[in-house]
Amino acid sequence: MSFTITTPLYYVNDKPHLGSTYTTIACDAIARFYRLEGEKVVFITGVDEHGLKIQRTAESKGIKPNEHCDKISNIYKELWNKWDITFDSFVRTTSQSHEDIVYQFFKRVQNSGDIKVGRQTGWYCVGCEEFKDVNNEDKDKYCPIHLKQLEWRDEENLFFCLSNYQKQIEKLVNSEDFIQPQSRKNEIIKFVSSGLKDFSISRVNLKWGLPVPHYPGHTFYVWFDALLGYITGAYTNSDDYNLDNINSMLWPANVHIIGKDILRFHAVYWPAMLMSANIKIPLKVFGHGFLKREGQKMGKSLGNVLDPEDLLNKYGKDSVRWFLLKDIDFGQDGDFQKQRFIDIVNNDLCNTIGNLVNRTISMSRKWFDCKVPELINYNNKNHLKECSNKVISEYKKLMYNYNFKEASETILYLATEANIFLNEQAPWTKIKNIKTKEEVAEDIYNVLETCRIIGYLLNPITPELSLRILNQLSINHNILNWKSSLEWGLLNPGNDLPEPIPVMNRIEN
Ligand SMILES: [Zn+2]
Repeated sequence: MSFTITTPLYYVNDKPHLGSTYTTIACDAIARFYRLEGEKVVFITGVDEHGLKIQRTAESKGIKPNEHCDKISNIYKELWNKWDITFDSFVRTTSQSHEDIVYQFFKRVQNSGDIKVGRQTGWYCVGCEEFKDVNNEDKDKYCPIHLKQLEWRDEENLFFCLSNYQKQIEKLVNSEDFIQPQSRKNEIIKFVSSGLKDFSISRVNLKWGLPVPHYPGHTFYVWFDALLGYITGAYTNSDDYNLDNINSMLWPANVHIIGKDILRFHAVYWPAMLMSANIKIPLKVFGHGFLKREGQKMGKSLGNVLDPEDLLNKYGKDSVRWFLLKDIDFGQDGDFQKQRFIDIVNNDLCNTIGNLVNRTISMSRKWFDCKVPELINYNNKNHLKECSNKVISEYKKLMYNYNFKEASETILYLATEANIFLNEQAPWTKIKNIKTKEEVAEDIYNVLETCRIIGYLLNPITPELSLRILNQLSINHNILNWKSSLEWGLLNPGNDLPEPIPVMNRIEN
């Protein structure tokens, strides 16, 4: 089986912010999970580089748009590498291969009779690169997202006949699984049922875009161009960007993970474009929420933007990934609160998980010659085994539903059960009696084995912490596929246990 997942292609007007980092980390966790489940994964990310906003940003810096794009695109790629994001394909919409795809696609849409010339008038937000519905009574026309004045447009554009797809799109957005989470579905259903209008796919007098063939002065509208980047990205390991081969690539995407603000483009415009070009449509569009900081919207003008690179340098990957995936309900809005972040990382990763690993290894080393205890008459039916098997199946179900929050909580639950087990069995008392040494061996083994399972389950969420835990248990092989690793009892009795070092360092306030 195969699995294709995409982040949005991020707009390169500026370097990555916390929101795009959040989306990318979530996609990375999903991609890692599917790989461990044995699927062939294509994880597509990239950048959207055309459009008026970028042209203006470059002009304001006194450089050419392509220089600006090269610079910011590199920053994205470098940052994703620093975060160990396991993308398979990085799309740039200024690449030759992408241009080839756009032209072939446009031709198909044209041949389907879905392109017409029309006049576009309306209020435009350059930040959104989108026409806005405005109340004509308002004296000042502002974009509610960018809080910037809208610009009036009246020009000849090419239009994509979205209205030809009213019935098909209505059926699609009402289908069971296409739009998630459910809470976002209703706004799209409402939008579609009010009647789809054709939308313009070209701009005039805009130099920084792909020229439309046979329409001098027209360049492709940035969204029409950017959405096609997903198709370009599906051509991994291929230098023949022939659209006729798309069905032999790992297409359609199984899921587009996006921010809720661009749901309309992905759930309405994009599938209609694909229908027109006779290309399979993605199976799911998931719109996640926005991040606030200490309860406030982040913004340049407010001066409270949180730089993801600073977080990375200060706290490391695992801490930030754990917080974003475990504390925020994926699909809902979230809030980055510094104190909460520190408490969660210290409590969950340092105390509940880290201490469990550390103290159990220490006891095993002390009483069993620096090794995993040897077992005599091992009772293969025990409480921790039962818990662990229950957690594994629950965890998988949750991860398949992108419910990182509850999936992380199941791992914590398992660690808590192991801590309770240790405290109840009190091996430090039992070891004093030679008659109960065998029992202690079994107790310690069961907790170490639980730590091994926890180490594996953490892999998609906090990959480095996962490897540190497994290393402490002398399991050094690469985790490629965990189907055979999640069975109970695979930790070898008699394995050497190196001196433990904390798998997570506390964050000091
Ligand atoms: Zn806007």
